[in-house]
This record gives sequence, structure tokens and C-alpha cells, in this order.
Amino acid sequence: MSPLKLIKNKTYINGEWVAAADGKTFAVYNPFDGTRLADVPDMGAKDTQTAIEAAAIAFEKWKKTTATERANILKKWHQLQLKYAEDLAILLTTEQGKPLKEAIGEVRYGASFVEWFAEEARRSYGDVIPTHSSDKRLIALKQPIGVVAAITPWNFPNAMITRKVAPALAAGCAVVIKPAEDTPLSALALAALAEEAGFPAGVFNVVTTRQPAVVGKELTANSLVRKLSFTGSTAVGKLLMRQCADTVKKVSLELGGNAPFIVFEDADIDKAVTGAIASKYRNAGQTCVCANRFYVQESIIEEFTKKLIKAIQQQKIGSGLAEGVQIGPLINEKAAQKVADLVADAQQKGAEVLLGGKPYELNDKGHFFEATVLTNLHTEMAIYQAEIFGPIAAIYSFSTEEEVIKLANDTNYGLAAYFYGRDYARIWRVAEALEYGMVGINTGMISTAVAPFGGIKESGIGREGSKYGIEEYLEVKYLCFGGL
Ligand code: ADP
Repeated sequence: MSPLKLIKNKTYINGEWVAAADGKTFAVYNPFDGTRLADVPDMGAKDTQTAIEAAAIAFEKWKKTTATERANILKKWHQLQLKYAEDLAILLTTEQGKPLKEAIGEVRYGASFVEWFAEEARRSYGDVIPTHSSDKRLIALKQPIGVVAAITPWNFPNAMITRKVAPALAAGCAVVIKPAEDTPLSALALAALAEEAGFPAGVFNVVTTRQPAVVGKELTANSLVRKLSFTGSTAVGKLLMRQCADTVKKVSLELGGNAPFIVFEDADIDKAVTGAIASKYRNAGQTCVCANRFYVQESIIEEFTKKLIKAIQQQKIGSGLAEGVQIGPLINEKAAQKVADLVADAQQKGAEVLLGGKPYELNDKGHFFEATVLTNLHTEMAIYQAEIFGPIAAIYSFSTEEEVIKLANDTNYGLAAYFYGRDYARIWRVAEALEYGMVGINTGMISTAVAPFGGIKESGIGREGSKYGIEEYLEVKYLCFGGL
């Protein structure tokens, strides 16, 4: 299968490659140079309903399969993802922009969830509960929740799908996926491989659209859908949670972040710089766990900043497909404008630009922004509370541990936090005090299929990956056997 065959112009519903009922399509562009890559179905409420109904019918059979049967198909899907990893990665870079090396990393990371949940399918044990009454016996069963709607973002067009779909399918649920309008091609490629892996018709469905509100409304209002798993902005997450209230759906939300990255004076500064680069500049700063606020202890701020700037200057901006490029384009014009506005607002209010600070002119269609370092920042600037989602390092100084914990927690977000230091007792104190779902200690890279990914506060509900991830797609049913 060549990358060309993985590019689809139709979408996959009920085991068929189909167009939108009204024949509408929309174009997908390469964010590097604006090339039109493909046209895909622009589906509406009726198509969404068709997909949900197909999933509901397929669920009735799929839920009765054994865990081993489901695991075997998932394993095939996993193997196909590895077999076509390079093709999937080229497609991913072409529609999303990230450097090919990162895209290959994402495809492997994405596939690792499929392997993990194929294994977990066979371990979703229930319980035999010690009884409260001698004439009764008590059991807790785990059962698949039903049809799952998965709404996914453009920043990880592959892995955000597998991270939701693999545990759902492993649990025995059927899925309807709505990928982001900027990056539907990776979703369709995954569907092509799912078809080849042999999932029964209707178990795996994709609704492509550039009308997310219309499709989102149907996915949340339709009572056949019993669970929504969403990754995206906090604003949309809140809206979807509200919309799910009417039918009381179970929700998993993985929303925005405002990650602090703290460097204490006893840290290994070189390692902190390496971690900072990995955390901040991956995907051109467009990940929800990207370092958003650097807090550096006063006595080392000069050294850290100097070394960080030197490391950033070695990063090459360009096409994700070009050799040696570390920073690709931003996803679209809106994203580039947001980053430019944040930098302009900070500058107007007194921030100092130590590096970069402007859009990067590479061609007239791509949206690039220079890797930027800002200092002299304060809490009145928009950049302090905003999720930056771009290659901007905002550096703040602090003097005491108590102060920095307060600053780090001064946000409605609570996804990821990072800190570097060597004092053993402080490591424990700070790790416990940070109000975040995930904390990286002396590392800037925390994501793996085997650990629970997710946030607290307004960063979300639920966990993905790990032994906890499959629970999001299971209901506990209590059986009480009486009259013994
Ligand atoms: P971002 O700002 O990162 O694009 P969004 O939250 O807008 O984040 O997008 C994440 C996903 O949510 C995408 O698949 C997008 O199409 C979808 N989305 C956006 N608005 C809505 C909506 N009103 N209802 C349902 N899905 C939506």
C-alpha cells in the first residue's frame, strides 16, 4: 500500500467507503505551502445519524465477542500501523506540518495504544464481593458502555484517535470518530487499515466534516451514543459537556493546559535546557502538554536563558519533510495570528524579546513563527493565562519554593507540569503540591501508552492510556444473587 492508497476521498461508515448524503466535500491543505491534498466528504447531521445507527447495530454483536477475538483484530490493526508507519507519517506531516521524525514518533506512539489495549482487553476483570448477608452472593461485572463518539484534534491526528478508539474497541464498544477538519486524512488512513485488519462493519466509523458544531450536536444529542471522548480546547469541551447533559452521557475530556516548567537552582541546567526544548518546541509548540510558563530561580536565570537561546538557535524551521528540520509550520492562519497577538500584547505591556518575535517568512502560503524567547513578563499579559500553542518560551523568575508553587498553581488549567531539581525532599514536596494530572520530574517528555494521561481542574476529566484507560469505556454492573 503506497501513501497514495492511504489517501481517501470518501469516508468509512458501516464497512463502506461513502460520500456525504448531499454530496458536499471540503478540501484538505498542506499547512507548509497551501497545496490542496484531497477533498473529503463534508458530512452533516443526517450522515452522523447514519453512522451512529450503524454503530448501534454493530455494537449488539461486537459486545458479545470474546476479549481474545477483539484483541486479535486489534493486534492486526497494530501490525498494519507499524507496517505502514512511514506512509502514515508522510501523510501526517503533509496534512499537519510536524517534522517527519516527530510524525514517525507519533505513529509509533499511536500504534502502542492499540497494542496495549489489545492486551488490556483480556484483563478487564470484575469482582466477587465478600457478601453482607449469608443468603446472598455479590458480583461486579464490567460491560462495554455502548456507542462511543470520539472527537479529536489536529495536533496529533493519528495518536489522539488510537488513544480513544483502541480502548473503546477493546472494551467491546463501537465507535464514531469525528476527526478535526484540518487533518481528516490520517483518520481515513487509520480506517483503511482498520478495514484491512477485519473489524466487522459498523464497529469503526469516521464522519469527516467541516461543520463540527452540526456533527457535534448530533453526536451529543443522540441517545444511542452513551459516551463522548473529546480532546481539544477547554471552550469546546465545556460546550460538549453541557450538550451531553441532556442524555447524561459519560464524558472523557482532555482539554487545554498551561504547563509550568520550573527550574530550581540545584538543577542540572544542561539537562533542564534539553527537557525545555523537548517540551516546548515539539510540534512547533502545539501540544497541550507543552511548557507554557518557564519559572527559573533567580540565581540561575541568566545561565539557563543563555543556554536555552543557544539551543533554540540550533533548531531549523522549514518543511516537515525536509531533512534536519525541527520546527514546522503552524496549522493555519488563525493559529499563527493568535501567537502573533500574544507576543504583540506582551511587548506592548513591557515584555522583552530575547529571540525571534515575528512571523517567519518562508513562502507566501505557510504559517511560520520564529522560535521566540520572552522575558520581563507579568500576570497582566494575555500570555500568562493563555495556552500559547506556538514556539514561544515565556520566562519568569522566582525566588522561593513556596512562591513558585503558588505561581505554578495560579491557573484554571491542570494538565501537565514539569520541574528540574536534585533535592530529594523538595522533589517530593513539589510533586505533591502541584495541582496537575501529570508531573514530569527532571524530564520534559512524559507521554507513554502505559501511564495515565489526563488533567484536573479545567484541563479535563478521565484518563487515557494505562490500566485506567479502558475503564472509561466500561460500566460496572452489580449482580446480587439472593435466596441461597
Ligand atoms: P483547536 O482550537 O485546537 O482547534 P477545538 O476544540 O476547536 O480545538 O477542536 C478540537 C476538535 O473539536 C476538532 O475536531 C473540532 O472540529 C471539534 N470542534 C470544534 N467545535 C466543535 C463543536 N462546537 N462541536 C463539536 N466539535 C467541535
